Amino acid sequence: MHFIDLQAQYKRLKTRIDQRIQDVLTHGKYIMGPEVQELEKKLAEYVGVKHCITCANGTDALTLSMMVLDIKEGDAVFCPTFTFFATAETIAFQKATPIFVDSDIETFNICSEHLEKQIKKVIAEGKLVPKAIIAVDLFGLPANYPEIERIAQKYEIKLIEDAAQGFGGEIDGKRAGSFGDIATTSFFPAKPLGCYGDGGAVFTNNDEYAELLKSFRVHGKGQDKYDNVRIGMNSRLDTIQAAILLEKLAEFQTELKSRNASAAKYSAQLADTYKTPKVPEGYVSSWAQYTLVSETRDEEMEKYKAQGIPTMIYYGTCMHQQTAFKYLGYSDSELPVASKLSKQVFSLPMHPYMNL
Ligand SMILES: *Cc1c(COP(=O)(O)O)cnc(C)c1O
Repeated sequence: MHFIDLQAQYKRLKTRIDQRIQDVLTHGKYIMGPEVQELEKKLAEYVGVKHCITCANGTDALTLSMMVLDIKEGDAVFCPTFTFFATAETIAFQKATPIFVDSDIETFNICSEHLEKQIKKVIAEGKLVPKAIIAVDLFGLPANYPEIERIAQKYEIKLIEDAAQGFGGEIDGKRAGSFGDIATTSFFPAKPLGCYGDGGAVFTNNDEYAELLKSFRVHGKGQDKYDNVRIGMNSRLDTIQAAILLEKLAEFQTELKSRNASAAKYSAQLADTYKTPKVPEGYVSSWAQYTLVSETRDEEMEKYKAQGIPTMIYYGTCMHQQTAFKYLGYSDSELPVASKLSKQVFSLPMHPYMNL
């Protein structure tokens, strides 16, 4: 049994994917070829936003978003402590200060009550400018956007949705990638929609942001390619990766159904033994991971291993526990839910070709 089986998907889509790659080799437009625009149009339609700007990876998608929002030294950016490193890393990369927020005990996503407390604390201290929130759709489940959007508006802070794991998720029919001012995703092979290398995208309804994103991803280009009007970066999606993603996107809804069916089967069988993942009313998860909570995690993982079932820990270290963020001086007691989750969570195999 595989934890994530990328080969099963390739076998199924081989003819179509191989043809798409061959088409790129034939036309030879390896950078910003026609498949890139075709993909951006289809992704924007799928997510239900005006603009999709692809880029080199999900980490760059976050960095590009923060460049657009002019996030810099002296700014406070709020993010969950229980997430993948890139969420917090990109904040520090902009020389801004990450402010860590605890998790909701049911959904593992950012806790909106603690978020508001942290915002109030930063305002009261008066040292940093509260600039943005990065909410993460952890393990595929959209964060509580109705509540987070209300908080962002109340304090006039920008909201970035990190949907690297959440592509395909929904709240009341509104899709992941459409929440907040800007949303980002990743096409790393193991994500719900993955390519065969690195890739990412940014989504927004804001025309001005979209223009800035297109400039920032190609060295801050102006109207003319060799007139550089701002400092940017080189963060384009390869045409071959776009070609692969077009075929995978065409299959994505079918795969999403299969992931949801597997998750339902897991939960039906495991609910008596563990705390199983909660999907609130009106929400759809894309099941990037199927994650259980157990006080005897190590023993449970051993049991699965003995049966030939691989398990993984996402995440065993919170952001505030990372060596690179020791300088921020957080203790576990300030972020108790996330600290406990990091000691108790483990994930079971999850992909669309499981045949449970
Ligand atoms: C994977 C991931 C990223 C980064 O994406 P890359 O494409 O690997 O750079 C960012 N945030 C979260 C929550 C992720 O899971």
